[in-house]
Amino acid sequence: MRAIRRFTVRTVLPAPVAALGDLASNLRWSWHPPTCDLFASLDPQQWEASEHDPVALLGALSPEELDALAADPQFVARVAAAADDLQTYLTEPRWYQRLGDGMPSSVAYFSPEFGITAVLPQYSGGLGILAGDHLKSASDLGVPVVGVGLLYRHGYFEQSLSREGWQTETYPVLDPDELPLALLREADGSPCHVTVGLPGGRVLTAHVWKAQVGRVPLLLLDSNVEENDEAARGITDRLYGGGGEHRLQQEMLLGIGGIRALRVWQRLTGAAAPEVYHTNEGHAGFLGLERIRELVGSGLTFDEAIEAVRAGTVFTTHTPVPAGIDRFGRDQMEIFFGGDNAVPGVPVDRILALGAEDYPGGDAGVFNMAVMGLRLAQRANGVSRLHGVVSREMFDGLWPGFDPAEVPIASITNGVHAPTWVDRRVVELGEKFIGPQITQDARGWEGVDQVPDEEIWSVRRQLRSSLVEEARSRVRSSWLRRGASPAELGWVDHVLDPDVLTIGFARRVPTYKRLTLMLRDPERLRRLLLHPDRPVQLVIAGKSHPADDHGKRLIQQMVRFADDPAVRHRIAFLPNYDIAMAQSLYPGCDVWLNNPLRPFEACGTSGMKSALNGGLNLSILDGWWDEWYDGENGWAIPTADGVDDPEHRDDLEAAALYDIIEGSVAPRFYDRDDRGMPTRWLEMVRHTLASLGPKVLASRMVADYVTRLYVPAADAARAMTPDAAKALAGFTSRVRRHWPAVRVDHVESDGVSDSPQVGDEVVVRAFVSLGELTPDDVEVQVVHGRVTPSDTLVDTVTATLRHAETYEAGRHRFDGTLTLRRTGAFGYTVRVLPRTDLLAGPAELGLVTNAG
Ligand SMILES: *Cc1c(COP(=O)(O)O)cnc(C)c1O
Repeated sequence: MRAIRRFTVRTVLPAPVAALGDLASNLRWSWHPPTCDLFASLDPQQWEASEHDPVALLGALSPEELDALAADPQFVARVAAAADDLQTYLTEPRWYQRLGDGMPSSVAYFSPEFGITAVLPQYSGGLGILAGDHLKSASDLGVPVVGVGLLYRHGYFEQSLSREGWQTETYPVLDPDELPLALLREADGSPCHVTVGLPGGRVLTAHVWKAQVGRVPLLLLDSNVEENDEAARGITDRLYGGGGEHRLQQEMLLGIGGIRALRVWQRLTGAAAPEVYHTNEGHAGFLGLERIRELVGSGLTFDEAIEAVRAGTVFTTHTPVPAGIDRFGRDQMEIFFGGDNAVPGVPVDRILALGAEDYPGGDAGVFNMAVMGLRLAQRANGVSRLHGVVSREMFDGLWPGFDPAEVPIASITNGVHAPTWVDRRVVELGEKFIGPQITQDARGWEGVDQVPDEEIWSVRRQLRSSLVEEARSRVRSSWLRRGASPAELGWVDHVLDPDVLTIGFARRVPTYKRLTLMLRDPERLRRLLLHPDRPVQLVIAGKSHPADDHGKRLIQQMVRFADDPAVRHRIAFLPNYDIAMAQSLYPGCDVWLNNPLRPFEACGTSGMKSALNGGLNLSILDGWWDEWYDGENGWAIPTADGVDDPEHRDDLEAAALYDIIEGSVAPRFYDRDDRGMPTRWLEMVRHTLASLGPKVLASRMVADYVTRLYVPAADAARAMTPDAAKALAGFTSRVRRHWPAVRVDHVESDGVSDSPQVGDEVVVRAFVSLGELTPDDVEVQVVHGRVTPSDTLVDTVTATLRHAETYEAGRHRFDGTLTLRRTGAFGYTVRVLPRTDLLAGPAELGLVTNAG
């Protein structure tokens, strides 16, 4: 079986077609149809048999077959043209290169999973797919990103079903030599090593593999190496390894080992050190500790090193579900980061403080990776506007004294990589009737009115038909695995119908996603599926976490419902949701359904992929849909947010779902004009393509990260010279020490008459005690705005008061004016904040003293 090692493949490729090796090893093929066509043309059957895996395909061809290809001048010319095209893609200036000077030289992007292509199964779900799309779009935009992750020997599990509809898991063993990876080697050919200390004097050693994602290298650490004992070899065995200790060691390897792998990469290639470190969710957070260790080694104190690290670190939080956040026992942390595994200059009590939940409602016994992530990053974000709001509330304990709105967590809404997720037939339709801007300009689909109804509808039907074919074949093989004989499976040829309104629903199966909401009233669902004139069909997929029996029960309920001979031609559960399935599922569905429990869907991206293919969304107003639903691009399922009883809430929301499908979605789909066109449906499709199209793109997302987070972080990191880090650390500790003495003693105002009017000016004088601090250390602000009946200030505006006079004993007066700008109830307050140019925002230190 090991005959298809990459090394062997490369050496046997005859010179005229040697470039096939480069084309296979750069994963850009996975979003570049012409390169896939080239591979398919080598041997169409073998291409299918290899499940579209170029490395496997090349390995499967005999030397004679390869020689024959090398002797075909036309084929050789095609290989050369494809290789040229790749070379151009890799070297030409792109968006980022046009932004001018002073941009970050390199950005490191750390993630526990990367979903790039089905042939590199190193992802479990949304987080990984997003990370993959981030790298691909960074490549397309020319952003100098380096990815860092782990290489899991078993990847994520493959899902199948038992006869009873229970999820079973198998873990295929992956041989890195058969994957599109290259081992990092020293000049003498020996593998590069990265080591991380473990308690008891053990050392964890890892090799580093590199996947090339277009222009972006992705470094993956692998602990399955000879130097390790049995236990250490297993650390990278599978995604999100079981118990706490396994997971903790994975994250130590990812964060600490990941930085060391980057340093090896820099040494080998001369690549610039990253100026920005992006932590994709808490899992990779230990990278900050390793960077602190590096800086302590170069002469900074722990406090100074923290300031330097924070400046260049970006942290993205991805979940408002507490169970989705990694928390380790403090005792466990002490074992792994203290005792005989302690690192000089990085004391374990300081590490523990970084992840401490030392706020009301926190658990004193745990170390929280998201909390550490936020404390080690000067810039942080959630992944949709609503998730930003929810995250600011969720973490506001870290910034006591500030309103949630001021918590320094921004939001950048996720996006999806169009070249990966848009079906070729959709692209070709746009190119034919609109032009090449379809793929070159995010606004290309604004010309969608140039595409005739019949053409759109015909492509939509083709996509639906392909999905129907695919679903039949998957249902058949699933039933064969479930123990059915081929003779029993005649009905499978009638599963789904290429002319019936098709609703898709696919996701991991945590509770909040509510896989089975649609089963709330099974009779009602049956009626929708079997409607005589306006039937609906459902395609469903999703994996449950292997340890989550509750999730597996939900899948079983779904499967049992779909097994019923009365409805099984209208509903199919397709096992083993993965990238390969997703790529035909999204385009083939007319409607993409999402019914999470608001507001637990941080963003959601599957509906975006559907929209780019002309699908319409039917969703709870959560995540991205809350932000971009506009009344014309799909449907919003009303949420019963205020209803506390979860059963009652599910009943209400399910009933609303049935009502919308029955009363709006199905009638519109089946309402045809005399040409047989569903004109009002097609209007919504056009509107979706033109208006959502540009927003849901990962290229928009990555550009937002660059301009809003990476560039400011790189600027901050550059400003944070060792001297500046010392100054900031000194400032921070001085201000923290003396802050308890800061008080707003008294506030006077002039100019508010008995009947104030818009435009009136109010003079504000604040008398403030600063103790040992000076007026230069602080900013005194007047915060004004509307007041609610409970005297809470909302829609606030702040203005800075200027230092006017110093009295004895650290007392000062600060003056300013504010202008009454709106009618109605109005109020203001005064507050004192620490101030230095090296902070990214006023709330950063979490210190504030409010008046009163
Ligand atoms: C897009 C995608 C996901 C994530 O979907 P969400 O809507 O963000 O939950 C998960 N798995 C696969 C295979 C995907 O393609």
